[in-house]
Amino acid sequence: MNLPAYISAYSDEEVFAHIEQAKRQLGSDVTILAHYYQRDEVVRFADFQGDSLELSRQAARATQAKYIVFCGVTFMSETAAILCQPGTIVIQPAAAALCPMAQMADVEGVSAAWGALSALWPNDIIPITYQNSTADVKAFVGQKDGAVCTSANAERLFRWAFARRKHILFIPDEHLGTNTALAYGIKREEIGLWDPLEPPAIETLRNCRVVVWKGYCHVHTHFSVQDVARGKSLHPGALVVVHPECRHEVVELADVVGSTSGIIRAVEQAPTGAVIYVGTEWHLVNRLHYMHPDKLVLPLRRSVCSTMAMTNARNLLYALHGISAGRPQGIISIDEATAHWARVALERMLEAS
Ligand code: SF4
Repeated sequence: MNLPAYISAYSDEEVFAHIEQAKRQLGSDVTILAHYYQRDEVVRFADFQGDSLELSRQAARATQAKYIVFCGVTFMSETAAILCQPGTIVIQPAAAALCPMAQMADVEGVSAAWGALSALWPNDIIPITYQNSTADVKAFVGQKDGAVCTSANAERLFRWAFARRKHILFIPDEHLGTNTALAYGIKREEIGLWDPLEPPAIETLRNCRVVVWKGYCHVHTHFSVQDVARGKSLHPGALVVVHPECRHEVVELADVVGSTSGIIRAVEQAPTGAVIYVGTEWHLVNRLHYMHPDKLVLPLRRSVCSTMAMTNARNLLYALHGISAGRPQGIISIDEATAHWARVALERMLEAS
């Protein structure tokens, strides 16, 4: 996005001061939500920071705000736009900030998988989509009696799904789907993989209970078994805490596996003097490092989400100035039918969690 020359010319300190001023002027008309993976220069201005689940709830609760400025990636802003109060406008400061993993599943591909799997298990399969998916995919899942999940409640949503049908199609993260299925007690051989570019022969899936979509988060699949081994040899006794979007062989070696909020809790609860290697997005790990000077919090490897990092203080200021001037930029809009069915899938998650 090309910023106006006056914003580009500000020093960082001037940008921060203007954001404070704009926030004061806009008061309760604006709520700023920021994901934990956002830059520090953005998080410091957030009214609420959180993981996907917490921010979904916060968007639904923001009853006073005329505008929600969502500092994150598009699937999160879409969720806010679907769950917020009628009339509230959701703005995303960095319009191009898409999640690469969410882009790995489109409705056409999901619909093809659904058609084939429904023929294999008529009326006996349910779709679960990770929150990190497009509004279109969430709407498809909502129409097919399915639900959304986050990394914080995936196992709970598996329980919800298995209470209704015998099979699950899990979209779009192969790793969260596999890790959740294994933690739930599903055997390896009962987990199938759906590659949308090269769909499997349908009969090879007959004995599966869960079919996972072949998508991945490049930030979390970056961590390897060797990273864990290096950390443990540099600091014997170190705690290794990873996100369930990591590959299963990494998850298996970790001491704690948790959603973003779970990771934060694990660091908070570790004793003074602990050495903790964290396998998640670097901006959060770096923040945890200086928030806990009594512990040594280290990245398992430096792994950055470049689209999360697209939002910075300057485009946040531009978003606030647009609202003040009555010309908001970066409005997230979703057609009514899509919003309706995606809301159905999201509400099933919120009820189940
Ligand atoms: S960290 Fe991974 S899942 Fe999250 S927005 Fe970035 S690419 Fe998507």
